[in-house]
Amino acid sequence: VVFVQVAVDVPVDKQFDYSAPDAGIEDIGRRVIVPFGRKRVLGVIVAVGRPATPTAQIKSVEAILRDDSRLPPDVLALLEFAADYYRHPIGQVVFAALPPALRRGRALTLHVEQHFRLTSQGREAKLPARAQRLRRTVETLRERGVQSAPELAAAGATAALLRDLIARGWIALTLEPERIYKKACTHLQLTAEQQEALDRIAPHLTEYGVWLLHGITGSGKTEVYLQLVERVLARGGQAMVLVPEINLTPQLEARFRARFPQVEQVSLHSNLAEVERAQRWLKASAGVARVVLGTRLAVFTPMPRLALVVVDEEHDASFKQNDGLRYSARDLAIYRAKARGAPVVLGSATPSLESYHHAQRGRYRMLTMSQRAHAQARLPAIRLVDLRVNNAEHGLTDPLTRALAGRLAAGEQSLVFINRRGYAPVLYCPHCAWTSGCPRCSVKLVFHRKDQRLWCHHCGHSEPPPRHCPSCGNADLQPLGEGTQRVEDALQRHFPPARILRIDRDAVRGRDAWHQVAQRVGSGEADILVGTQLLAKGHDFPRITLVGMLNVDAALVSPDFRATERLFSLMLQVAGRAGRGELPGEVLIQTTFPTHPLFDWVLRQDYAAFARALLIERKTTGFPPFVHHALLRIESANEEAAQEFARAAAAGARALNSGNITIYDAVPAPLARLAGRTRMQVLAESPSRTKLQEFLQTWQRELTAKNARHVRWALDVDPQEL
Ligand code: ADP
Ligand code: ZN
Ligand code: ZN
Repeated sequence: VVFVQVAVDVPVDKQFDYSAPDAGIEDIGRRVIVPFGRKRVLGVIVAVGRPATPTAQIKSVEAILRDDSRLPPDVLALLEFAADYYRHPIGQVVFAALPPALRRGRALTLHVEQHFRLTSQGREAKLPARAQRLRRTVETLRERGVQSAPELAAAGATAALLRDLIARGWIALTLEPERIYKKACTHLQLTAEQQEALDRIAPHLTEYGVWLLHGITGSGKTEVYLQLVERVLARGGQAMVLVPEINLTPQLEARFRARFPQVEQVSLHSNLAEVERAQRWLKASAGVARVVLGTRLAVFTPMPRLALVVVDEEHDASFKQNDGLRYSARDLAIYRAKARGAPVVLGSATPSLESYHHAQRGRYRMLTMSQRAHAQARLPAIRLVDLRVNNAEHGLTDPLTRALAGRLAAGEQSLVFINRRGYAPVLYCPHCAWTSGCPRCSVKLVFHRKDQRLWCHHCGHSEPPPRHCPSCGNADLQPLGEGTQRVEDALQRHFPPARILRIDRDAVRGRDAWHQVAQRVGSGEADILVGTQLLAKGHDFPRITLVGMLNVDAALVSPDFRATERLFSLMLQVAGRAGRGELPGEVLIQTTFPTHPLFDWVLRQDYAAFARALLIERKTTGFPPFVHHALLRIESANEEAAQEFARAAAAGARALNSGNITIYDAVPAPLARLAGRTRMQVLAESPSRTKLQEFLQTWQRELTAKNARHVRWALDVDPQEL
């Protein structure tokens, strides 16, 4: 008999042995139905070989799904690496990587449209003058190369005619990837910097290498990606392009489609119907889809001819998954490119300090683009508005409203950025200083004007606002601070005729909402955009000439050591929305701390100086990238249980530690209570990644052995938030 090792979606870090008489190594990566306890479950065969269990106890698989969904060896290796590195059970890693439709025991086949090409006979055949449909069909193929059945139907080909042409030996069925690759017409004259970036990567397209494309906003990084992808396609390869945000996919998708109309392209993200997502995955997996564009989850997509990986906005925190398998898609993308012998391009205007550090040390190669691509576009001028001397009313200061009025008069677009949706982040009693807190979390409830309710942005709790102060009975409760809704209201009162468009998660919901918003902005239907983070990333709206940032102070006083790094890139990203077209841009940043050193670099828009200074600081104080972190996250409905487990975990870690690892005391998480649960954390740190990995293995084993009841815990390797 043959034995197979199966990964099953259970929180136990092992593979399970089964016998499978007819299995062979070609079944590795296939889904199987197996008996598990008293149930039948779906699993994935990860190996074929000698069992670890005594053979008498081994049950046999019920069915192997020999469909199109097989995970290829390189993806399995990636998953095994991820399971090991992120200390997550292999079965759960495998299942997290599968599109949801494949997590069920149904067979799936790729629906491929039939494609036809001319044979040499067909190419030379003399066409009968009178057979109209036949002429048009053959001529279409002669003109365009490969065509799908529906495309030929449009030229008048009936099924009978196609059969007839096959019988004559004039046409043949073909797989789409063989589609003749026509050289894309590139309309843009590359800038010198774009050309140089391309020239440097081009000779290395068939080998592994990490390229850090550090290009300011609007320098034309996307054009560089497009031209690299083009070269890879011309050689028959597939390209993977990762972006941080679902909303960025449509714009980018459109650009890629326009550039490569003849190749199949799919985008993959969580906001797709299950069947559709599975079909796209299968297309990539069959090599039919040549370009895969997606959010972090796309990093696991099987691509047999993967030859280029691009990670756009590589610094973005959303490449890190924050629950379950806490992976970094950027880091896994690099691992994957390496295993594959393919280049990976990390693009950003404000690279993460980790990547920048690698580039400085020569592990990555740096490409710099410091000019905007559009001949007339320059970097916007950035000015600070000192909140100590300029009063803000509903978040808006005089200098900002004057600037807005100027743009309105000139018929140009403005963007007002504020990092909080809702009306006001807190309801406040001026009498006794009571504030509206979430009963289940350690945060304030945000007042939303539209539905007149208080909402918790963390746990989703909502309640009507009290009529009187619950603490002193005062009837005059007031909103404190600003959210997007309040700023929208205030702007509308200031500028009654202005067309104001609010862009946050409340306003932009559903599959097409973003697309519509982007179109309205692009076609100039809005004068002022009020938006959150959603607006900050990557979008190209050439008519925006003024950007106001209302509230950046919180990050300047945050205890998280990454807060300033994130704020810096946020400010440059948001500023990057201004002046992308022919009109010059201006940025006003309102702050109470205008003398904070961060603003020196922001005003000069000097990422390199900022990065150098911060890296020196990180080195002297001993923070990443000079040390590596792993965070034990603990939560429990029982406060004491959480504290007790955290204390014991820290003590246990210290006992295990053979030097090289620093274990910090157990502390409450920044969000100390979430949805009624107490959250604690223990930080482990080491200058050596290997040592830290070794330590985590034993620590995890000990923690598991505690069999803690009422406590949930997870290790977060390379945590992005502390
Ligand atoms: P980035 O991704 O670096 O922010 P984009 O690739 O979105 O920049 O380019 C910014 C703008 O400049 C886009 O409107 C793009 O069409 C335009 N652009 C890019 N490259 C060129 C070029 N070589 N010549 C003219 N315009 C360009
Ligand atoms: Zn009160
Ligand atoms: Zn809450």
